[in-house]
Amino acid sequence: MARYQKPDCRLCRIERTKLFLKGNKCLTDKCPLEKRPFAPGQHGRLRKRVLGYALQLREKQKLKRYYCMSEKQFRLFFRRAEKEKGVTGENLLVMLEKRLDNVVYTLGFALSRSQARQMITHGQVRVNDRKVTVPSYQVKEGDLISLKEKLAQSEKFKEIVETNKTKTIPNWLQVDWDNLQGKVVSLPTRQDITIPVEEHLIVEFYSK
Ligand code: ZN
Repeated sequence: MARYQKPDCRLCRIERTKLFLKGNKCLTDKCPLEKRPFAPGQHGRLRKRVLGYALQLREKQKLKRYYCMSEKQFRLFFRRAEKEKGVTGENLLVMLEKRLDNVVYTLGFALSRSQARQMITHGQVRVNDRKVTVPSYQVKEGDLISLKEKLAQSEKFKEIVETNKTKTIPNWLQVDWDNLQGKVVSLPTRQDITIPVEEHLIVEFYSK
């Protein structure tokens, strides 16, 4: 799978949106979007009016990168969202939000979505006491997310706890730091998605 290798926050500049690819880095002035809130490269400062296809493409790329997905995975999610009842764009956003890797990151159990994904594929995450190794697993209401003891007791994880203990999490999730357990209290809705995105542009992108 082709993976983007450049420093993560460079993508924040390309998409002009904080993508949190290195977790809290985007909250500090180390995120280059703070100092240089324009796209990288020679012509980055020129405010180009992005319209039509280019605008739809940017919106799709932004969301895809925010959730750290490949084009193939993202397109697959879109097709699934299309088949579900309701508004495709909203379905897509909610499905992305319900991904186990997003939930592990949002709970504060990882410093980034890609780190969360690695924890899952390495078998360190449990849902209702059963190991789940599929990052795209869709959480359900009432799901309990916990971690393998070995990880929970590691130095690396203590660091994560220190960094994220005070993090605010959305109402649809609950975290119990003493028992290192997260709970899906209710399923997320469109209102719970905080990244600025106009999902209709993504629907238009894939509808060609
Ligand atoms: Zn950033």
